[in-house]
Amino acid sequence: MTYNAFHPPVRTLMGPGPSDVPPRILEALGRPTIGHLDPRFIDLMDQVKSLLQYVMQTENPLTMPVSAPGSAGMECCFVNLVEPGDKVIVCQNGVFGGRMKENVERCGGEAVMVQDAWGSPVDPQKLEDALKAHPDAGVVAFVHAETSTGAQSDAKTLVEIAHRHDCLTIVDAVTSLAGTPVKVDEWHIDAIYSGTQKCLSCVPGIAPVSFNERAQHKIGNRRHKPQSWFLDMNLVMGYWGQGARRAYHHTAPVNAMYALHEALLMVHEEGLENAWLRHRRNHEALKAGLEAMGLRFIVDRDHRLPQLNAVAIPDGVDDAAVRTRLLQEHHIEIGAGLGDLAGKVWRIGLMGYSSRIENITQCLAALDGVLADLGAPVNHGAALPAAEKVLAA
Ligand SMILES: *Cc1c(COP(=O)(O)O)cnc(C)c1O
Repeated sequence: MTYNAFHPPVRTLMGPGPSDVPPRILEALGRPTIGHLDPRFIDLMDQVKSLLQYVMQTENPLTMPVSAPGSAGMECCFVNLVEPGDKVIVCQNGVFGGRMKENVERCGGEAVMVQDAWGSPVDPQKLEDALKAHPDAGVVAFVHAETSTGAQSDAKTLVEIAHRHDCLTIVDAVTSLAGTPVKVDEWHIDAIYSGTQKCLSCVPGIAPVSFNERAQHKIGNRRHKPQSWFLDMNLVMGYWGQGARRAYHHTAPVNAMYALHEALLMVHEEGLENAWLRHRRNHEALKAGLEAMGLRFIVDRDHRLPQLNAVAIPDGVDDAAVRTRLLQEHHIEIGAGLGDLAGKVWRIGLMGYSSRIENITQCLAALDGVLADLGAPVNHGAALPAAEKVLAA
């Protein structure tokens, strides 16, 4: 084997994450490493917390980035809020709800599953029924934006129902945060986790989390210590908590924090509402192009995520061949179907910095060309004019 420096190709990332990382964030990542307890780094941590509170629309003091990917954010919420014997209602409408079940069970809890079809949002009535049937449940968990299907659920309503039945809520906002409204305080979400590599367009590997007072109370009054030392919020708080007296817990990924800070600054500069609008507008343009081509969305119009567009693969078209040609000939990555939807859908992401007009036109042109070349039944040449009409409106 010979070893050479690794120079990745330049891709356009239009899958389910990671999204394109803007040069500005990559530049921030390369700044000199300093100590994780350096007073200047502590200042940066304070800024990161405050910017995260803005992006999550919360005043929760317990808001911070977990030093690990979105999956660790998920695990962090479950290990801190679920104790052995606890009953948790998990609403599942895609891949990630299944992971929530795994988490509950590994915490020693009992997961009661509320199932909805893949591509549909979580049905509030089914949650209500499950809570009536299980009055001893203490936690309700659901995915706000199911990246595996492109469906968005009504987080505000689901949280309201859970609270009427005296349950805490755990919300997965990995794909929704910064792409579509997420209002932690207004919606009274108790515990929420996200990721950096989707609509924040930061490097992968960090998971913002936030816990409100009710959740913090539960964490502070547990009967057992969480089985994870690393993710135990009572310990992590010693490092990420308020005030100057921060103590070593683990070495923060210092440079990744520079990158996160830069990513959050970019959202702040654009304005959160403007970021939501941009995602919505660009989705409309991509949608017009895909539909003009003859492709069909698998999620109802009212529940579509602007940042994750799942379309059915036309009959007889070779899924892998199309994705391979997009990647190799056009350097564009789109996502394959997951789980039940493997081989049936493509998932086209317009997340964060990937949600740009040039990405939409490049992707539509490339997809149109590849599909026409493979003899797929598409309206060749119709996509770009349709998208451009929306963009010009
Ligand atoms: C991507 C994703 C995760 C996992 O995040 P990683 O950073 O890949 O660990 C969890 N939930 C949802 C809804 C996601 O889209």
